[in-house]
Amino acid sequence: MRPVDVARITGAVARLAEESNYRLDRGYVAYLEDALASEDSPDAQHVLEELLENARLAEGGSAPLCQDTGVAVVFFEIGQRVQLVDGDLASAVDAGVRRGYCGGYLRGSMVGDPLLRENTGDNTPAIVHVDLVPGDRVKIWFLPKGAGSENMSRSAMLRPADGRQGIIDFVVETVADAGASACPPLIIGVGLGGTFDFAPQLAKKALLRPLDTDNPAEHLAALERDILRAVNDLGIGAGGFGGRTTALDVRVQAHPCHIASLPVAVNLQCHAHRVGTVEI
Ligand code: SF4
Repeated sequence: MRPVDVARITGAVARLAEESNYRLDRGYVAYLEDALASEDSPDAQHVLEELLENARLAEGGSAPLCQDTGVAVVFFEIGQRVQLVDGDLASAVDAGVRRGYCGGYLRGSMVGDPLLRENTGDNTPAIVHVDLVPGDRVKIWFLPKGAGSENMSRSAMLRPADGRQGIIDFVVETVADAGASACPPLIIGVGLGGTFDFAPQLAKKALLRPLDTDNPAEHLAALERDILRAVNDLGIGAGGFGGRTTALDVRVQAHPCHIASLPVAVNLQCHAHRVGTVEI
């Protein structure tokens, strides 16, 4: 077994919390530049230029990209030969979130109870997902998730007979309903399969895939292209001002499911696409 002190996880989460809030995902910046080059609408061009300028200012001045610094969503892959020592994982993650958000002067956006709505003051607790994998490494992804896009995300239990077109229609309908509220241009995470509770996790995990990588399954890569085309035909555009680019990319993650089910979840990601990752 390889011992890993949980203090290292606290330190890594604190660093990722700050860095990811200051720095727009590199792949997303490249997508914005491409979108600007191909955009005809002056309003959308202006929004895209402002987003690129905002990213430059945030990174240069160590200021958050957006006032909504998000729920701290943390994904782990933990090798089965790792032994976490000197504390528990959940407390270590929350200590890192607390240090990163308070030390980086990032807004605390969590309320301790969804009805009483009192701010916890330090953006804890985090939402933590853990996969056990072979090996002796710990891999961490930090995804600060803004509420504007999260609120407009949807899931549905489609019938298998709805098929490929049913999936495309559901994603397009979700994006059309979201309009400007999800802060486009979007990255669209789509979870396919699993169960009622599992599909949304697949959709969120799909957002972690680096933007410059293709889906390894050709039929899913083709689905991603068709969804992207259909979504951009809506003409919502950057900031909702109309234009060619409502979404910059679609990422589909699939999982086996019941013969009688076709669970689909759509997790919308906004123009503050922030993902940090590190391996310990
Ligand atoms: S949805 Fe994204 S871009 Fe919009 S306010 Fe929230 S974090 Fe900012």
